[in-house]
Amino acid sequence: MTDVDVPESHPRYESLLTRHRIEAGVEKGITSKQGLIAQGRGEAYDYLLGERTLGSADQAERAAAAHLLLADHPVLSVNGNVAALVPGEMVELADATGADIEVNLFNRTQERMERIADHLREHGAEDVKGLTADGRIPGLDHERAKVDADGIGDADVVLVPLEDGDRAEALAEMGKTELVVDLNPLSRSAQTATVPIVDNIIRAVPNVTAHARDLQDASEADLRDIVAAFDREAALDAAEDAIRRGDLD
Ligand code: ATP
Ligand code: MG
Repeated sequence: MTDVDVPESHPRYESLLTRHRIEAGVEKGITSKQGLIAQGRGEAYDYLLGERTLGSADQAERAAAAHLLLADHPVLSVNGNVAALVPGEMVELADATGADIEVNLFNRTQERMERIADHLREHGAEDVKGLTADGRIPGLDHERAKVDADGIGDADVVLVPLEDGDRAEALAEMGKTELVVDLNPLSRSAQTATVPIVDNIIRAVPNVTAHARDLQDASEADLRDIVAAFDREAALDAAEDAIRRGDLD
């Protein structure tokens, strides 16, 4: 995955590496062709954000870590883009927070589900949920509603990176605390999230893990304070403002 032929000094190194990973994901049968388009949309926003983690995004990442640590049953949802871009990083986040990992696809096929689960296992995941599909998210059509009853179905806190707006809304309606990673602060997924993380998933996931490790010994009261202090509207506004100003310093 890292044997990409781009010199690190290239000004678009990170972006080109990311594209390469998505392309490799498509070739491996874990990422859909639609995933290429989603990545292109994300890149455009990242460019306007200056390809950096805003202070407001860092706060969102800390709040997300606190939510995961406070949860009774946290679950990290993985789709084809997430699996291609940050498989090992998701496994590390699961380890740091005691979360389950569940494969959850917009365009669900049994073959792609299994390939993604295998890919995650190759990156150290022990138990990968999503293949049982004995639970449903109310309000969505059959294929898109499938989840594991003892996974996302039972979760109180779910991290859903790069999620489609409909499903983000349906999960929020189930009363779940929803942590979303999405570079577009105007997308419905970001707008419905309890914690919208407007940052590239490549930077976001390792940073949530770093915060979770930092907060490992924090008291429940301290974690609750971090959660309460996070202002989702302010975070969305800060991201939108950075994009509109287009100040890349
Ligand atoms: P809506 O949420 O308004 O319904 P959508 O679901 O139609 O929008 P998609 O293109 O399906 O939008 O979803 C992809 C989302 O993921 C986009 O908002 C895009 O900005 C975001 N995205 C893509 N790649 C990344 C990435 N690497 N990191 C973070 N976000 C990303
Ligand atoms: Mg979306």
